Amino acid sequence: MGPSDDQALECDLLVIGAGMGGLTAAALAADAGRSVIVVERAHTVGGSAVLSSGYLWSLPTIDDFAAVAPGGRRDLQQVLIDEFEAVVQWIASTGAHVGDRIPVLHGRGNQIDVQTYSRRCVTLVQAAGGQVVIDASVHELIVEDGAVIGAVVDDPSARVTVRADHVLIATGGFAKNPDLLAELVHPAAATMRARCAPFCLGDGLRLVRRVGAAATEPAGFYGHLVGAGVDLSDPERWDNFTLLHSRQAVLLDRFGLRITDETLGDNVNAEAALLAGRRGLLVWDEAVHQEVLLVSWPPGYAAIDKFDVALRAGGSGARCDDLDQLCAFAESHGFEGKQAVTTLVDFDAQVAAGRHGERYGVSRAPFYALLVEPAITFPYAGIACDAHARVLDHSGVPIKGLLAAGVDIGSVFGGGYAGGLALASTFARRAMKTAGIIGG
Ligand SMILES: Cc1cc2nc3c(=O)[nH]c(=O)nc-3n(C[C@H](O)[C@H](O)[C@H](O)COP(=O)(O)OP(=O)(O)OC[C@H]3O[C@@H](n4cnc5c(N)ncnc54)[C@H](O)[C@@H]3O)c2cc1C
Repeated sequence: MGPSDDQALECDLLVIGAGMGGLTAAALAADAGRSVIVVERAHTVGGSAVLSSGYLWSLPTIDDFAAVAPGGRRDLQQVLIDEFEAVVQWIASTGAHVGDRIPVLHGRGNQIDVQTYSRRCVTLVQAAGGQVVIDASVHELIVEDGAVIGAVVDDPSARVTVRADHVLIATGGFAKNPDLLAELVHPAAATMRARCAPFCLGDGLRLVRRVGAAATEPAGFYGHLVGAGVDLSDPERWDNFTLLHSRQAVLLDRFGLRITDETLGDNVNAEAALLAGRRGLLVWDEAVHQEVLLVSWPPGYAAIDKFDVALRAGGSGARCDDLDQLCAFAESHGFEGKQAVTTLVDFDAQVAAGRHGERYGVSRAPFYALLVEPAITFPYAGIACDAHARVLDHSGVPIKGLLAAGVDIGSVFGGGYAGGLALASTFARRAMKTAGIIGG
């Protein structure tokens, strides 16, 4: 990235992490005429964002947030509400495709072309004289007089000091760091499998902790149920493994008991499965299979037979002609089969009696039983920040010069979730306002 001697590079904004949050902040700053250096640890930019389904979505009101993600902080959630429309317009202004407004999960949003958006962001940074440096990482943040004024960066050829008016941390959380998962999610989370970019290792949190920043309280995580043991090595296939239809299925623990209100969503079901020993038995009937699983939801999402896909990818399941077969399958995998059948029959009777609103029962054979496990995309805990995207110390005081965006930030969600791309891009925009780089 040069210069190769001891001289320091200087810029207005140093961004650590070139995913959704980092690239959005960098491109906004470059578009405003600022000099930007982006440091990316991977060989390519985009992080989890380019592996995502590209639904830029969130919730429209704070009451929705209180209902869907009650464990998050309202002031932080308000950032997603306030900045959302401006972010959608900004992404469209870069020339990346932005689809129509559609309902997405329990909110609304637009499907965007994340690959093109990432490339456009890089072009904007470079066109403004900045750099996006791949295969590089940050050795440490530099603090002078209590303010963060840059970082020591290791790129493949040299160790370089970068001085900046503002440093923005956006390294994509710590879904792949067992120690942080045990500390800030749950001891059982340490060995949970992940569906996220390779470098979600908690570098952002570790860097800012070393300069006095606080972490938020332990909390849950955003992830999905996948077939237990499926081969997750190919990110291209993750969407096909994601069991969004679990909201209309029944999730049982090894005692054959339901462990959550499944309608809260597949991400909440994944959290419940973690607490139930990282394993569950997901059961649904032919009506759910045909009318939920095989239907594209949200619009544009893969409508494929995910039961079949899971079995072909190493998962364990059975398509059962009756509940006796289901009982046998459950028992052969260490679940209490008889109790499972009792639970399913009781639940079906409750649905028939109208006690579960619009839910499907478990009455139409064949019945599908799939062993499932949770896979994490990002934790809800992370760097303590305020609604100005400023990183906070242990007294709740902002650390000068230090901003954050994206899923590195803790306490935005909790008990439920409302969009990782929105979290990243709205906080990136808010951070650029706080830095005085954009107005509004
Ligand atoms: C399969 C899948 C589907 C998804 N679908 C959706 C969806 O449709 N809608 C939605 O809202 N969300 C979705 N998500 C979640 C969304 O992609 C993430 O929440 C979002 O990308 C987070 O943005 P971020 O900027 O915080 O992190 P990322 O986009 O992951 O970017 C972080 C970047 O930081 C880099 N980095 C890490 N450590 C360092 C370091 N020390 N130095 C420099 N760089 C570093 C990483 O390599 C990465 O490039 C999905 C995720 C997955 C995996």
